[in-house]
Amino acid sequence: YIDNEIYTEEAETQGSVTSLPTTQKGWTYSEYGSKDVLKFEDIPMPEVKPDEVLVKVQAAALNPVDSKRMSGKFKNTDSELPHVPGYDVAGVVVKVGSDVTKFKEGDEVYADVSEAPLNNPRQVGSLAQFTAVEEKLLVIKPANLSFAEAASLPLAVLTAQEALDRAGLTEGQTIFINGGAGGVGSLAIQLAKNVYGASQVTTTASTGKLEFVKSLGADKVIDYKNEKFEEVSEKYDVVLDCVGECAKCVKIVKEGGAVIALTGALEPPGVRFVVTSNGESLARLTPYLESGKVKPIIDPKGPFKFSELVEAFEYLDTGRATGKIVVAPI
Ligand code: NDP
Repeated sequence: YIDNEIYTEEAETQGSVTSLPTTQKGWTYSEYGSKDVLKFEDIPMPEVKPDEVLVKVQAAALNPVDSKRMSGKFKNTDSELPHVPGYDVAGVVVKVGSDVTKFKEGDEVYADVSEAPLNNPRQVGSLAQFTAVEEKLLVIKPANLSFAEAASLPLAVLTAQEALDRAGLTEGQTIFINGGAGGVGSLAIQLAKNVYGASQVTTTASTGKLEFVKSLGADKVIDYKNEKFEEVSEKYDVVLDCVGECAKCVKIVKEGGAVIALTGALEPPGVRFVVTSNGESLARLTPYLESGKVKPIIDPKGPFKFSELVEAFEYLDTGRATGKIVVAPI
């Protein structure tokens, strides 16, 4: 019931932007709640502002913020309902706004579509057949990545990168990453080791995921099911908490070192930031993605079909994903 053919056929016969459909299929919710509020419906095509690009979505990915936002946690700063959820997208440019200079029809692109995830994020996100994206957020997809792989990256990799930048991680330093198997952690390990040149990366994971995080470049792994990481004798230059255990994380940072906590209650000197989507920041990673120094990690339960979004959210909410939950093809 998801008709991907309509657009292709019309484009072939008419050969211009006038061939774009007037409605599309997308997942929406018009009240806050759990996955049960999600509906799959016909929705209008997004409006394309002068500085925006219309993307035919090929793949999308989920992040914990999708679920938290849908629950109403950020309703005071959220955009108006109804929403199409989804921050991460990869797809093909089908139309460009009048001020757009960097992209043209046919370009394969990817992005986190909301510049600020909690503050007036896009009403129409990536879980629809078409989504509009500001040019400044968009990057050409590295040719060696599939759409599903590219969609798995933006929000999580931008978070990992911004965290390491804010922590001031430099070559030769040591880092502890709490929660190495998740979306952000699995990319932070690779960035710390292969891009920032950390001399030692230590991380936590549950028993079944120890080998997985080692394969990403972790030098030491603490099995959090059997060991308390806050009791290790070693101290680190940088600690990144992807779990919500800041009070424990501050115990293992060196004096003058940095603790960045992405979620949960803060404990000094731990600090929080909220990721900003930015095409230039994402583009900095292109050479590392092309060379394979940083690899997208798609959770093996996926990619989920476009029709299986409710199941994908259910899985997201278990908090057990390995790498990223991807929805493709769309
Ligand atoms: P994920 O859903 O991908 O994290 C799931 C992973 O966390 C699983 O692999 C799980 O492994 C691991 N995990 C769960 N509990 C523990 C634990 N006690 N110790 C070690 N690992 C654990 O989440 P993300 O990586 O996408 O995001 C992490 C958090 O950061 C979320 O709360 C998210 O909202 C937040 N975030 C904040 C941002 C910001 O801008 N401030 C930006 C992005 C994310 P296992 O199965 O082995 O337990």
